[in-house]
Amino acid sequence: MSFSDVTVRYPGRGAARPAVVDVDLQVAPGQFVCVVGPSGCGKSTILHVCSGLLKVSGGDFHYLGKKWQGRHTGIGYVTQRDTLLPWKTVVGNIALPLKLAGVAREERRQLAADMATKVGLGHFLDRRPRELSGGMRQRVQLARVLVTNPTLLLMDEPFGALDAVLRVRMQEFLRATIAEAGLTTIFVTHDLTEALTLGDQVVAMSGSPGRIGRIDTLDDLPRGVSAVELRQVPTYSVHEQQLWATIAGHGDSPEPL
Ligand code: ADP
Repeated sequence: MSFSDVTVRYPGRGAARPAVVDVDLQVAPGQFVCVVGPSGCGKSTILHVCSGLLKVSGGDFHYLGKKWQGRHTGIGYVTQRDTLLPWKTVVGNIALPLKLAGVAREERRQLAADMATKVGLGHFLDRRPRELSGGMRQRVQLARVLVTNPTLLLMDEPFGALDAVLRVRMQEFLRATIAEAGLTTIFVTHDLTEALTLGDQVVAMSGSPGRIGRIDTLDDLPRGVSAVELRQVPTYSVHEQQLWATIAGHGDSPEPL
């Protein structure tokens, strides 16, 4: 996936007020990219472009070697909002995209039950969303996306509504799941620690219109370890300080570390 000098304007906002400008970004297959920045700097806008929902107004966006050409397929989109159907069970919710794709009833129920088990909900197949905790509901949402075998996972503040402990558990779970599936992931968050813990690369945005101020590749940090362990690594605080300076509006040039 690549953004080259991309500008995005929302229809009706007027030509003078783009949402994002000068976006240059390359994402390789299998990479886990976290996008951080304050509210309104254009993080979700970047995800909308990745999903094919929003066309760029200037510059080029390429996905799988092609210029944007309408809706992309093979994309899983997870948001902070709980979008489970309250009257359906765990299996029924996870099976929904398979139903819409025309998969036969028995096959889709089996695939959904297998995926529910994979995300640790094997004992809750017939529960309804109201009978599940926040973390369990978020796992169902993730399972509902993974069951479609996406090649690209887009996540917009997926753990924003969870408490601190659950959030860390879900981060660990997500990282392991994504590593196993080999998925390319773009993960939007305004939590810098979350970004440094999860990402292979962190893209820091700021301003209005939003722009990328800094891209850090985290080759010098161990992957798959907790935030507490990461903080012991000296280069962690270097990344943290420089990315923070960028999102808080005092960044230097967008040089990779
Ligand atoms: P973030 O995800 O970083 O909070 P957004 O991408 O949602 O930021 O928004 C970036 C800018 O685009 C903001 O100024 C916001 O008001 C504007 N914007 C977002 N969605 C729309 C829309 N559908 N129509 C018009 N303006 C929008």
